This record gives sequence, C-alpha cells and structure tokens, in this order.
Amino acid sequence: MSAELSAKVLDKLKTLQMPGADKDIVSLGLVSDVFVSQGKAYFSISVPSESANSLEPLREQAAALASSVQGIEAATVVLTADRKAGSPASASAPQASRPTHGHAHAQPRTVAKQAIPGIGAIVAVASGKGGVGKSTTAVNLALALQANGLRAAVLDADIYGPSLPRLMKISGRPQQIDGRIRPMENYGMKVMSMGFLVDEGTAMIWRGPMIQSALLQMLREVAWGDLDVLIIDMPPGTGDVQLTLAQQAALAGAVIVSTPQDLALIDARKAVNMFNKVEVPILGIVENMSHFVCPNCGTSHDIFGHGGARAEADKIGAPFLGEIPLDMEIRLNSDAGSPVVVSHPDGPHAKAYREIARKLWDGIEGRAAPAFPDISFE
Ligand code: ADP
Repeated sequence: MSAELSAKVLDKLKTLQMPGADKDIVSLGLVSDVFVSQGKAYFSISVPSESANSLEPLREQAAALASSVQGIEAATVVLTADRKAGSPASASAPQASRPTHGHAHAQPRTVAKQAIPGIGAIVAVASGKGGVGKSTTAVNLALALQANGLRAAVLDADIYGPSLPRLMKISGRPQQIDGRIRPMENYGMKVMSMGFLVDEGTAMIWRGPMIQSALLQMLREVAWGDLDVLIIDMPPGTGDVQLTLAQQAALAGAVIVSTPQDLALIDARKAVNMFNKVEVPILGIVENMSHFVCPNCGTSHDIFGHGGARAEADKIGAPFLGEIPLDMEIRLNSDAGSPVVVSHPDGPHAKAYREIARKLWDGIEGRAAPAFPDISFE
C-alpha cells in the first residue's frame, strides 16, 4: 500500500519542472526515495547548495503536489545539498571563501567585546546555510536548557527571515521600560526578535551596517534580566553580519547545526572556520534531520546519510552534542508554535534536546571553570 502511494507521489512529482532545466525533478534524479507512513510522505530533493534559498518555492510546490495524492495528508520535503544535483563541492556559496588575511575583518582581537551584565553565557546557534533546522534547534535548545532548570532566553538574529515569533507563537510589539525594550515572553521564556519590530518582509531590504547596529542593540538594550544563558539564533551563512555578531557579542561559544549530507557539512565547516577566526569556541555540533524513524514500524532509515556530523565533530575536535531525527512531529509542532520540548515534554525528542542541552551546559561550565581548582585541607 505504501509502496503504491510512494509511486503515485513520484508520478505527481514528474509534473514538476526543475527551474533552469528542461526536465522534471524526478527524471533529473533529484528526488530521494519517497517514504510513506500513516498518510504522510517524506522525501528530499537534491539542489545545488547556493540555490537552496531561491528554490524554496520548488520545495513548497513539491509538498503541495505530494499532498494532492489521494491517501497522502501531508508531506515533509527537505532540500538537500547533494553532489548529485550537479553541483561540485567548490560551487557552494561564494561568500564562504572569505580571505583570512588582508581583509577588514582580520583583526578580531582589536574589537571590543562587551559582556552583558546579568547574562551568564551567550551562545550562538549557527549553520553554514539555511533550511537545516537552525531556528527549530535554537528554540528547542533554549526551552530544553530551561527545562533543565536554567534561566534561558532566546534572541532571534535571523534578520533575513525572523522565525521566532511564529516558532514561539508570540505576536504584538514589545514595550519600552525605562528606555529599554521589554522582551516578549511565552512558555516562560523571554524572546526578542526583529520580527516584533518590523513588519514581515521589511527586514529583507535592510543593509549591512543597519542590521549590525540593530542586532547589537537588541542584544544590549533589551531588558533581559538575570539569565544563565542567552541563545542567539544566528542568521544562516557566514557573511558580514554573522562575522560582526560573532566578533562583538562576547560569545561563550557557538553550536553548529548541520544536516548529515556532505555539502551541508562543508557549509557547517565554513561556520566553524568563521568562529575560529574570531576565537569563539565551538561548543558542539548538532546533527539535525539525522535519520528518519518510521512511525509505523519504528525502524530507522538513513535517507540523508546519517552520522556525518559526528565524524565531522571528531575531525575538528568539537564535542558532538547529539542528533535529532527528521520527524513530522517536530515539524508540525515547530511550525504551529508549540515546540516539542514544551508540547511533548515526555517524548523522545524532548529527551534528546534536554540531553543536548545538558552536554552544552557541561561544556560551558567546563570552559568557565577556574584553571586552578580550589584545594582545601582539613
Ligand atoms: P533554518 O533556521 O535552518 O532555516 P528551520 O528551523 O526554520 O531552519 O527549519 C526549516 C524547516 O524544517 C521548518 O519547517 C522546520 O519545522 C523543519 N524542521 C527542522 N528540524 C526538523 C526535524 N528534525 N524534523 C522535521 N522537520 C524539521
């Protein structure tokens, strides 16, 4: 039955032409195996990594086509940056090959990093490219830190597409108190996002310096109160905005979110290099959409080449914090503004996020520990 439905989905997808090519996405070999389980379809489309953002409409069309098949209620479609897409590794995002010397950003040590009074540790959650689940991870990680008993908050610095208002189900404008911005709040957690300050779409036309000062303002002029940890959901990629923020935000460290594919990992490595350049420690790597667990039979399918992030973490000597499977429940809850950590606190995903949060906090505390431990003699 599900094989029949998979075939029907593939048939439908044959009507979807790849932009810039004269063939459909199935004939071009861009569509992965289609898994169908309990009326839900899961598959990925391989695209060149530099086109991932512009091909978002293609992803949406593919999801709509799959859902139009009788017997399919919903579809999870992921764009993956795979070499199959005819994109050699060297063809990834041009901004990635920023020179490491002779460039205006090559003097990180001269930039003043101001710690923020009342905030114990600021942690950036970053990814080399969009669509890997960075915001979903940032939100669930912040909520997991909170569930572990820490005072956590989250700042949405993803200026190009602020998603925290939606992910945290918060609307309205923040108020000012004593000349400072009062963060918005839901699920007991403080949240600040450019999405609260500008209308949707407006942020897209902002330019570099304006964005940077707005971000630093949100960091410093928001009345965060006393926090153990502030999670920053970074903009995807490794451009100027990301670099400035990494340089100036007095970060305790960064968490890199990656999907398992090779190219996504190459992108993740660019993010790692960016933080290295400004001497921000990598607190760990999270593998998102690591594998797909069939809700029917419970078996795990490695449709995206599971395990790449762990190997990469070993290679660069960063802690591997954990893996989160591709699961419709995560997507539906995330998109409905009720992140799994709060909507299904006893479920396996919430547990996985809490474990990642625990390892992350151990890493932060380990780094903050004094070099010479106190020894007391009785
Ligand atoms: P990014 O911040 O990297 O652009 P998002 O967090 O916005 O990515 O996630 C992109 C899409 O993928 C969202 O629709 C989200 O719900 C979905 N998603 C993220 N992580 C998972 C997961 N582990 N399983 C299923 N869907 C996921």
